[in-house]
Amino acid sequence: MGAPSTAATADTPTRPKRGVPAADRALARPRRRLLAAAAALVALVAVGASSLLDLRTPTPRPADAPTGEFSAARAFEDVQVIAARPHAAGSPANDQVRAHLEQRLRGLGLETEVQDTVAPEAGELSGAAGGTALARVRNVVARLPGTDPTGRVFLVSHYDSVQTGPGGNDAAAGTAAVLEVARALSVGPRPRNDIVFVLTDAEEACLCGAVAFSASHPLAADGGVVLNLEARGSTGPVIMFETSQDNAKLVDVFSRAAPHPVGTSFAVEIYRALPNDTDFTAFLDQKFVGLNSAYIDGGAVYHTPLDTPAAVNQGSLQQHGDNALGLAREFGSTDLTALRAGDDATYFPVPGGLVRYPGWLTLPLALLAVLAVAALGWLTRRQGRASTGRLAAGFGLALVPIVAAPAAAQLLWLAIRAIRPGYAQLLDPYRPIWYRMAVLALAAAILFTWYALTRRRVGPAALAFGGLAWLAVFGVLLAVAVPGGAYLTTLPALAGGIAGLVALRTRQTGPWPVVATTVAAAVGVIILLPTVTLLFPALGMAKGGVAALVAVLLGLTALPVVDLLHPQAGGQRGLVALRARRLAVVPAMAAALAAVVLAGVGLVVDRLDADHPAPTHLMYALDAGTGQARWLSREPDPQPWTDGYVGGFTSVEDDFPGLGKAKLRTGPAPVTNLPAPKVDVLADSTSGTERTLRLRLTPQRPARLATLHVDTSTATVLRAEVAGRPVPMEPRKGKWGFGLVFHALPPEGFEVTLTVSPKGGPVVVRAMDASDGLDALPGFRPRPPDVGIVGSHRSDMLAVARTYPL
Ligand SMILES: [Zn+2]
Repeated sequence: MGAPSTAATADTPTRPKRGVPAADRALARPRRRLLAAAAALVALVAVGASSLLDLRTPTPRPADAPTGEFSAARAFEDVQVIAARPHAAGSPANDQVRAHLEQRLRGLGLETEVQDTVAPEAGELSGAAGGTALARVRNVVARLPGTDPTGRVFLVSHYDSVQTGPGGNDAAAGTAAVLEVARALSVGPRPRNDIVFVLTDAEEACLCGAVAFSASHPLAADGGVVLNLEARGSTGPVIMFETSQDNAKLVDVFSRAAPHPVGTSFAVEIYRALPNDTDFTAFLDQKFVGLNSAYIDGGAVYHTPLDTPAAVNQGSLQQHGDNALGLAREFGSTDLTALRAGDDATYFPVPGGLVRYPGWLTLPLALLAVLAVAALGWLTRRQGRASTGRLAAGFGLALVPIVAAPAAAQLLWLAIRAIRPGYAQLLDPYRPIWYRMAVLALAAAILFTWYALTRRRVGPAALAFGGLAWLAVFGVLLAVAVPGGAYLTTLPALAGGIAGLVALRTRQTGPWPVVATTVAAAVGVIILLPTVTLLFPALGMAKGGVAALVAVLLGLTALPVVDLLHPQAGGQRGLVALRARRLAVVPAMAAALAAVVLAGVGLVVDRLDADHPAPTHLMYALDAGTGQARWLSREPDPQPWTDGYVGGFTSVEDDFPGLGKAKLRTGPAPVTNLPAPKVDVLADSTSGTERTLRLRLTPQRPARLATLHVDTSTATVLRAEVAGRPVPMEPRKGKWGFGLVFHALPPEGFEVTLTVSPKGGPVVVRAMDASDGLDALPGFRPRPPDVGIVGSHRSDMLAVARTYPL
């Protein structure tokens, strides 16, 4: 029963004590309060469910779908051909894939050609792979000419795979989607603008195919709109995660023309923090505009032997194709000359579409949210619901769950990793759903516990204010530093502030406070729940704390609803209050229990076995000059299988500069008689202080790549040219101050012209080549079925190096 004569919510000595307001009085009845809580929670669950349902992939269309539509089943037939086996750039398997693509595009009646050239890596990539990268590339390019072109639309995906796997998702799915879109467009009315289909080579090695096309193909000379299709996993919604600068008009078209538009301006910021790159980078370097889309869930198979056609989720494939076809039609018919106008838009998915607003609104909205929350604080104090001291305490205390939940999520993952060391090299577990839910339950447990502990001392009003105040502050910080992500906290803070004001003003009018605060919480759910859902696959469980942080922010927007699960503040005395308080710990206990149970279920369900192996990383490196051979691994904490080959960390940079600067674990390996690449001097001339050497590096065995480094204590490299093109000069630290990596190496090797300033003696160079597969090596024991291969560009690589004084 209520006790209307007390007002223990706040300590306001300067103001006369008030009775509990009428609406609050209504809610003081435990049964009514519980009813209000149930209604609010049902509403929030419904809103959350509809926003998650909206992230589902569409139903794949069958092979007999109408010819003007995209059919995942038709595209999948090409996926099976393209991803029949690993087909790294330069390999015979890749030649077969290219022949298939040419035949398919020609079969559609499109002007088709192969751009065959040597190209450097994209400008923004550092020479992390051991030196400046180049590759021989063969892009497949086809054109559907427009009737009255205002520009060109480019549909891009890459057809090469990594050496470790067949690339069913990455990017046979994207390539096959481009083919199916080309088919659908070629049967319809001719578009106004040129549509160019670009299937690039050597994306995995160095994005070199995209560089070759965007920088030097005649069709690319005038730029245009690029739609790049990628995958960094095997399933989940296709996310439009990257755009060119000043994207307002592009995002408009995206929301209008993509049938399943999932994208957020926050993703661009997240993506920049990840060590991935796609062909899109090369196009941006050349001032194209465009959109970059990928599906990213199911990351465990990324770049591994498990990335087979069978691993492709056909719903994701359908979404990729539906969006690409819709966008190609729209960009194909609009005036492309005016796309770069406007600034960067803020955009995010809501049930039924994409909300977007211009970037200039970001900061004003963030300040408005601060104002709304400040007004709420002022009114809270004025109405005697909390003193200034309590408001300050609420603000300070709200930081506790914001810090504790991410920390606890990281600790939970450390504990799971300790129980299951096989997770060490996985991007994400094979079946991560249970762990994700455990993290969310843990965040909820922390929030509920914190709330139950602080509520009686500080009061619900001050805590609600404190949570919203942090959201508003984050909104301003984000607006300044990460504008595309500011909406995440600005809009919930604004909604919460306004709802709080409404609740305080309408306290005499029955259900309105509950309705207002529930609506505000629903805004939080709509904006933050998809973010939580997409952050898990984007960052993997190793960074689950980020999702936990966003989950807690969501929880803070819903504190007034959470409060309904507690007894009326100060409204009860004696046994009833005690019982109600006991009841209030139920949510915290339930969430904590759920976290433990869900983590346990995860460990039981996601066992590592032959179908879900623990990945390992091993390489073999032979110094043909000294006759020393080593096993190498990049695993920081080696799996038992790898432990049989390697011990402690060593720098192998002096002997194998082509393997980069990272320290690797090494162990002695049996010496083989594999030949090092030959370096022949084709021409040698000196003019003044400059010596020009024309060299040919020829592999003596089939190799995927070769590297050439110059000891810069013997000569300073002034210029270098490969295949008649200047090599971008990227000075390296250490003994080998100049280096280049040539991918997709032809059997005849490559020619390089070095212009150097010698320092007295001979110019010392080191040549290395690398092939794939360790099976034929003495001392190599094949992996047991439950041991897999790390999805890396150097897994199972076999390198042979030698020094030549010239
Ligand atoms: Zn890839």
